[in-house]
This record gives sequence, C-alpha cells and structure tokens, in this order.
Amino acid sequence: MTSTEAPVTSFSELGLSEPVLKALKEVGYETPSAIQSATIPALMAGRDVVGLAQTGTGKTAAFATPILSRLDVTQKTPQALVLAPTRELALQVCEAFESYASHLKGVSVLPVYGGQGYGVQLSALRRGVHVVVGTPGRIMDHLDKGTLDLSQLKYLVLDEADEMLKMGFAEDVETILADTPEDKQVALFSATMPAQIRRISGRYLRNPEEISVKSKTTTSANTTQRYLMVSYPQKVDALTRILEVENFEAMIVFTRTKNETETLAEKLRARGYSAAAINGDVVQAQRERTVNQLKSGKLDILVATDVAARGLDVERISHVVNFDIPIDTESYVHRIGRTGRAGRSGDAISFVTPRERRLLTAIEKATRQPLTQMQLPSVDEVNITRLARFDDAITEALGQVELISQFRDIVGHYIKHHDVPEEDVAAALAVVAQGDTPLLLSPEAERKQRFDREERPGRPDREERSGRWEREERPGRRDRGDRQGSRSNAGLATYRIAVGKRQKVEPRQIVGALANEGGLSREDFGAIQIRPDFSLVDLPANLSSEVFKKLENTRISGKLIELRPDRGGSSSSPAYGKERPPRKPRHD
Ligand code: AMP
Repeated sequence: MTSTEAPVTSFSELGLSEPVLKALKEVGYETPSAIQSATIPALMAGRDVVGLAQTGTGKTAAFATPILSRLDVTQKTPQALVLAPTRELALQVCEAFESYASHLKGVSVLPVYGGQGYGVQLSALRRGVHVVVGTPGRIMDHLDKGTLDLSQLKYLVLDEADEMLKMGFAEDVETILADTPEDKQVALFSATMPAQIRRISGRYLRNPEEISVKSKTTTSANTTQRYLMVSYPQKVDALTRILEVENFEAMIVFTRTKNETETLAEKLRARGYSAAAINGDVVQAQRERTVNQLKSGKLDILVATDVAARGLDVERISHVVNFDIPIDTESYVHRIGRTGRAGRSGDAISFVTPRERRLLTAIEKATRQPLTQMQLPSVDEVNITRLARFDDAITEALGQVELISQFRDIVGHYIKHHDVPEEDVAAALAVVAQGDTPLLLSPEAERKQRFDREERPGRPDREERSGRWEREERPGRRDRGDRQGSRSNAGLATYRIAVGKRQKVEPRQIVGALANEGGLSREDFGAIQIRPDFSLVDLPANLSSEVFKKLENTRISGKLIELRPDRGGSSSSPAYGKERPPRKPRHD
C-alpha cells in the first residue's frame, strides 16, 4: 500500500499532458492534493488503483486528469466510463472533466443518469463521445438496449464505490466490470473498504496499487480552533464581520486557488482593509516584500495559498482564516501552524459549506481535536465594535488641539445663528462624517443573517450554540426608556485587566474583547483608564461568574487580560481620555 506523507509540490512532476497542465493552471490549483500526487503517477503508468478517499479530497482530478492526458480524440466510441452513485455526483464529475479538458480540442463528455430522457443521451452517443459518466442503473439500461458500445473502453472508474453498493448497484457494477474489455485500466475510489469491495477489487482489478493518504496530524495546543458554517456566497460577508469583531493583530486568509487570493484581497481592500495576495505565481522578491510589510505592521491581512504561505513565520499573525477549508488534513495542520508562533496564542477559523462537512469531520478525526462551532458575528456585535472605534476616533480628534479650536469657532458660529443644541450639531457632523457608508449595520442585515442561518442545514439548537446570547437575550438590547433601571446603570464597579500602554492597548480593543468574548453590551461600559501596565474598566458591579468564565482565556495583544475587580480603590475617572467629562446617562 502506498501512503503519502507530503504532497508532491507540483503538477508538472506527475507526467500529465501539457494541455491538461495548462487547464489546471487556469483553474488555479497550485499543488496536487495528497491523493492526487499518489494516484496520478500510478494511473499514468498504466496501473490499476484502489484509492481510499472521501469526496472533497480532490479525487475527481486524481482520476480525470490521467484519463484526459491519454485520450485519443479520434476514437468515436467511449474510451472512459465513470460510474457514480448519484446523478448529482455524475454531473459534478462531468463538469470537472470539462474544466480539465478546456485546452483539449473536441473532447466530449456525456452524463447518463436515470430520470433524464433517453433522446439526448442517444443522439450524443450516436455522434460519438469520449467520456461517459453515469449511474450504474442507466448505464446497464443502455448496455441492454445496445445503445452504448463499450467494446473499446480503455478506462473505467468506480467513484464512491461503497455508496454505489449501499444503493444496491453491486450487481450492475460487477456486470459492467465483467462485460468490458479485459485490458482496460480500472480505478476504484471508496471512502471505506468493506469486504465486498475488497472482493470486487481482488476479482476485477489487476494487481492494483492501493493508495490511502496519511497526514501529519499534530496541531498546536495554544491555537483555538473554530469553524463557521456558511454558504459559499456568504463567505465574503462573513469574513468582513469577523474582521470587524475579532481582536486580531495580523491574519492569513487561505483560499484554495491562486485566482481567488487576488480577487479576495481586492475585495478586502475595497472594504478598507490593508490586504495583499501571495500565491505560487508571485515572484520571490515580491513575496518577501509583502511578508516584510506584514511583519512591520504595514499590512494586516495576507490572502494566500498553501504553497505561498509554507514556512511563513511571522509572530504578529494572531489569526488564520480558512476561507476555503483545505482538502488535506496535512494542509490544515500547516495552515494553522502559521499562528500561535513564539509561544503566543493563536486563533484558527475555518469556513465550512454544508457540502464540506465531511472534510471537517476528517480534520477533527485526524487531529483528534474537535473544532468549536462559532456563529456569524451578529449585527449587535459588529455595531458594538464600530461604536467603540467611533469613540476612539473622537478621542483622537480631540487631541488635535489646533484643529479643534479652529472648528470650535466655526461650529460656534453655526450654533449662534441657528439656535440648535450643541449635541444636535455634533450629531449632524457625524452624519456628514459617515458619508455613504453607514456607521452602524441596520437590523435589516440582522434579519438577512438570521434568515440565512435558519436556512442553513445542520443548524444546532440554541442550547448548543457556544454560549452566545441570541439577540433577544442579550443584555444590551433594552428599550431606551428602560435604561435607568437596567443592569448597566444598576451600579458600576472598577475592574482591572492586565494589559496597558506597554501593550499599546486602545479602549476600542478592550470594549471589543470584553463585548465579543464576554457577551457584554456597549451600555455596560463606563470609564476606561489605560495605565502603563494595566487598565481600569468600569463595568456592572454585579458581573456574573459566567462572564468571568467566558473571559478566562481572553487575550489582548497576545496577553491574557486576567479580569478581576480592582482592589486599588480606583474611582472612575473621565472616560476615554483626559479632557472629557464622564459620560452622562442619556435621557432620551
Ligand atoms: P473532489 O474531492 O474531487 O470533489 O474535490 C473537492 C474540491 O477540491 C473541488 O472543489 C475541487 O475543485 C478542489 N480541488 C481539487 N484538487 C485541488 C487542488 N490540487 N488544489 C486545490 N483545490 C483542488
């Protein structure tokens, strides 16, 4: 049995034909997956293959590219037959064949499955096809009718063999294996190896090379691993919300293809983030420049493929986001190893589409570590962080004494002539400042998000959800008129956290971390004082033990915050800065 530890680094080493290599380059795959680097050379050498592989590991390209590399386009009767358990898989395989054949002239691939009229299938077969992909039942129908000529068949693939047997196709599969030319090459893929498949393999395959993929499976214990169920179109929105609420220093976002690194980096830049793409096509000098920018803090987000990020060692990387979950467990281990460097803690978040659930299970099994499900940050959470940042911006602007005095005159002039309260003028200026991009996300976005969530398959019950408050339960959501009696005004006490000026902490980071991880609401925050080695934060006096528990492992700038009541008797001093008076409760 062949087991591969590390994937071959390039498709060009596998013996595939030039047009196929060109197509793979265009599709954007950078390196062969483990199953591909083991299977392709064996198939190209003419061996039969038994591959233990699940969907999502790249097995379609593992069998399709060697077939296409050796196809004789002049032969009119089918040369390759792929048997698949379902119509969906058959169509998916056809699509994959077509994309890998984009630089081969005149290749025809035909899906053949039950439920579809015979007419289309018959006329295509009459015209001549090179590859037939079908479900065993319908293929048998054609063979019985004499409408499918498999006498010149060279390649036969059994895709998801165990599924085909489960669906009762055993007899059809065996008949097809027995009634096709003896010298054909057979590749059998199956996620499991029950005795029946072993028997079929022993009987119909010739000295097959057995391939299973072994992965390096140790992940670092100081990296928190989470996953988010998302649909494909939701991914960019999900990433931007995560960028807003996660307390990250620098981040690597991994995509599956080279092309996607560029498009995603562009989308992030358009949303105001400092992001750059690196992939295997980026020349070394440029890659080094980009990595140095990441190291020095000029760049915060790197969108990368596996190859480009290999060996990257940048301490600042606090987060790894798998925008596309990797198809090999080993890639997963490499990827999340980019964070949690130099003894720091790290965060890894993997996006999983419903179809990719099995990849997630495979990763959990191989690393023997369950990933925690996270929820898409809610509109409330995003808005809390935005408001904290807004406050920071005001504080910072107030520090520009000359400009402030200049504008004070201008604003004063306006107030004198318009008889408008100062607060309203300030609010109007905020409207001007927000421009076309609203400061706050609207509840409409929340509704859309909830709808998406409810639509999502595999949605856990509320109790299961990682302890986050649902919107209506969240303490921050109170009627405005209710505020006086609410927890936030029931009395504040001063708490101490173990990060301060030395860690270059800013109030928005403190609010962000405590709100997002401790579930606190913006209304819960009073004054924040940042001292050289620690900070003091006024929070509700009756902070529950649950909140402490949630914040136990919270870090800011890589340091545990160690939240505890302040015993130094420090009273509340002006919030968010020296010059400002304490925040007054609003009576609106
Ligand atoms: P499969 O297991 O064939 O269904 O493939 C799963 C997914 O992986 C598909 O979306 C493929 O397009 C993608 N894929 C296959 N091979 C590679 C590769 N070498 N690099 C990146 N993505 C790949």
